[in-house]
Amino acid sequence: MAAAIHASGAQADPEFDAIVIGAGVSGLYQLYKLRQLGIKVRVFEAGSGVGGTWYWNRYPGARFDSESYTYGYSFSPELLDEWNWQERFAAQPETERYLNHVADKFDLRRDIEFSCTVAAAHFHAETRRWDVALEDGRSFTTRFLITAIGVLSAPTMPTIPGVDSFRGQACHTHFWPKEGIEYVGKRVGIIGTGATAIQTIQTIAEDVGSLTVFQRTPNWAAPLHNARIGEDEMHDIRARFDEIFALCAESPGCFVHLPDPRKATEVTAEEREALFEKLYAEPGFGIWQGNFSDILSDRKANALISDFVARKIRERVKDPAIAEKLIPKNHGFGTRRVPLETHYFEVYNQPNVKLVDINETPIERITPAGIKTSDREYEFDIIIYATGFDAITGAFDRIDITGLDGQKLKDKWKDGPQTYLGVFVEGFPNFLMVVGPHGGLGNFPRVAEYSVEWVTQLVAHTRKNGITCVEATTAGTAEWTEHVMSLGEGLLMNEIDSWMTGINRNVEGKTTRKIMRYSGGHPAFREHCDAVVADGYRNLAMS
Ligand SMILES: Cc1cc2nc3c(=O)[nH]c(=O)nc-3n(C[C@H](O)[C@H](O)[C@H](O)COP(=O)(O)OP(=O)(O)OC[C@H]3O[C@@H](n4cnc5c(N)ncnc54)[C@H](O)[C@@H]3O)c2cc1C
Repeated sequence: MAAAIHASGAQADPEFDAIVIGAGVSGLYQLYKLRQLGIKVRVFEAGSGVGGTWYWNRYPGARFDSESYTYGYSFSPELLDEWNWQERFAAQPETERYLNHVADKFDLRRDIEFSCTVAAAHFHAETRRWDVALEDGRSFTTRFLITAIGVLSAPTMPTIPGVDSFRGQACHTHFWPKEGIEYVGKRVGIIGTGATAIQTIQTIAEDVGSLTVFQRTPNWAAPLHNARIGEDEMHDIRARFDEIFALCAESPGCFVHLPDPRKATEVTAEEREALFEKLYAEPGFGIWQGNFSDILSDRKANALISDFVARKIRERVKDPAIAEKLIPKNHGFGTRRVPLETHYFEVYNQPNVKLVDINETPIERITPAGIKTSDREYEFDIIIYATGFDAITGAFDRIDITGLDGQKLKDKWKDGPQTYLGVFVEGFPNFLMVVGPHGGLGNFPRVAEYSVEWVTQLVAHTRKNGITCVEATTAGTAEWTEHVMSLGEGLLMNEIDSWMTGINRNVEGKTTRKIMRYSGGHPAFREHCDAVVADGYRNLAMS
């Protein structure tokens, strides 16, 4: 890879101490923290603005499943004090505004280059530096290459023949245009029924002329119970921020929902029903994250909550045959990421909405007029692809990342990620991942703040001690990978095909289940990573 600067770049000095890829929640905070070290940092972002997920996903109804006030950054009391969340679960425009406010307040834009996609990064053993090449032909060098490229940032289209032949308007939800799509009164087809599809369907169903939903796998969804946050409530939230963040820190997923220590299989039927009803009526992820402690590990307990939610779906959907199609049969409640919904199931009671089960009548192709299944052709003005992401490792796979001895990261992770602490990869020195694979996942800003601070502390340590090369050892990588694998054992989630287990049937080679994330809960993850530092950066080779 050429290290020279190409004419297209206005960049005077191409050498950095750190290059960060991505300007979402993670990248923005990483830039803020690295600046405090007084080092030379540059962020490259493919989008034309800040926000990552909340810059790209502008589809109708895109919003949080995290409580808004638990999603904001916690590092700046001033920021906490001045931002008023409008809704309990903010929609995309509000979150994008928030992240723009953060970028402006901390004057972050001057170190971010937008509309710049990193195409390749190669490590040079002699200089102990990374060469970073952009798609526009420019290249730079850096001591540390830090990825903040997201877990759900590499959208995937379905591999259905004829996708390019459609004459109407077609769009993947991730690429929803800034100017919007005029769907009122139109004939709309949507492929997919995951979290994004559910938000889109429930938002557009009333306004479109007709909506045809092509479903392969139904998902267990539960009510969001969104509401506006008034001045008094925001005032109260503001007074309780310490308490709120302490609760998030205590919970495995960094939400305000702590698991109930009791077991669903050990309480009486009345006690069980009472908790299920309470959680179903409450806002947010409580039904998933704050439920009995055994629902995600014990098949009997999982069947109890699944039966409860199935009953709710049957009550809400008038046509029993449609209700049965909307009830998942191949996985239990909570074993995939639970979409939260607002009147989603009632949408199927509307005369203008049709559900097509593509297991019964598979899609054969996209045609110029619409979608052809095995039994008929459906004509549309608009086709929406809510077909999700090549999750967790997808954004890494799309960059040519080459470490020592010409080794490619994509090849190294062919059979699943191997990392140390979800931050380092053996053979890829000075390569640091913010919330990388096998790291602690959860309510994102909570986990990203920890990850960014850990990475920043490491960079500070290297500078203080004249260290120019940091790499995970073989022993450390093996120990961590085995630890992550063993934590995943016995969890029902890891026995199910989903993006959390690395399955994406639209991506070659992503058809075998893998353990993709650390599942020991974020408090244990932090304890482990803190202990590594206290132990003098155990299992890292530094020179
Ligand atoms: C629709 C949707 C709803 C969600 N809701 C929630 C929620 O309620 N709660 C929650 O905790 N999480 C939620 N998430 C997860 C969400 O991704 C995180 O909350 C968070 O936004 C991730 O921030 P990030 O900065 O790590 O990554 P991202 O926001 O994904 O940002 C990564 C950035 O890196 C850029 N990038 C990637 N590759 C390159 C490259 N090669 N060159 C240049 N730039 C690159 C991308 O353009 C992107 O802007 C949701 C995700 C989606 C898709």
